[in-house]
Amino acid sequence: MPTYIVLLGPPGVGKGTQANILADTASIPHISSGDLFRENIAEKTDLGMLAQAYINKGELVPDDLTISMIRSRLHQPDCKNGALLDGFPRTIVQAHALEKLLGEFNGKVDYVPYINAPEPILVERLSGRWTCKENGHIYHEKNNPPKRSGICDEDGSELYQREDDKSETVVNRIAVYFKQTAPLIDYYRKQGLLTEVDGAQSIEKVTASLMAIIEKKG
Ligand code: ADP
Ligand code: AMP
Repeated sequence: MPTYIVLLGPPGVGKGTQANILADTASIPHISSGDLFRENIAEKTDLGMLAQAYINKGELVPDDLTISMIRSRLHQPDCKNGALLDGFPRTIVQAHALEKLLGEFNGKVDYVPYINAPEPILVERLSGRWTCKENGHIYHEKNNPPKRSGICDEDGSELYQREDDKSETVVNRIAVYFKQTAPLIDYYRKQGLLTEVDGAQSIEKVTASLMAIIEKKG
């Protein structure tokens, strides 16, 4: 049976950082909807062109576009043992679509770690985030700096600051999260799938909390 993990939490709490670490241990791929959109934008695909306007404003990309992008990613062979989903679902409509989609693979959502931290921490993390151009590896100028400034430790590519990490957009992204994504907390809690993790801890401590959830259930 494949294993599907949904990492839930506000922007900047550390989902991508943790997913990069966990995907290696759990031997399932890390699927970040944000990374998939950014790849489409870089390649100037039709989807990328459509998504860019929403992303730059900090709004959500429409559900139908997002769901079909995730559907095609989950159909790829490397997902045969499951996936670690980061940034998807972000609405109740997407959560319903995910259930239907996983049914096609005889799977279901197995765990939903919900990583949370107070808003000032999110703002500080997003404003200091540096992302690698090639593979989306994540750094922070103070909390998790690269060995050489501006260069990714993993693949040597250039680091850049995301357009949507500008302060005006950050405020909107957090508001959008509370309005459209936070209802998923109760949705998964009612299904008994949710486990809360304190995202204000160090990267290592958050990883340890997440590992404990996966090992306990697995
Ligand atoms: P998300 O995917 O939830 O938006 P990221 O993983 O991209 O969040 O992390 C946002 C920023 O916070 C990055 O700059 C990252 O290096 C930093 N970060 C992530 N986790 C922690 C942590 N536990 N403590 C301090 N900084 C962190
Ligand atoms: P992220 O990399 O997760 O911070 O996502 C960056 C941006 O991509 C978000 O602010 C949205 O505009 C868009 N996005 C990512 N995932 C989704 C999703 N599941 N639904 C709608 N929009 C999304």
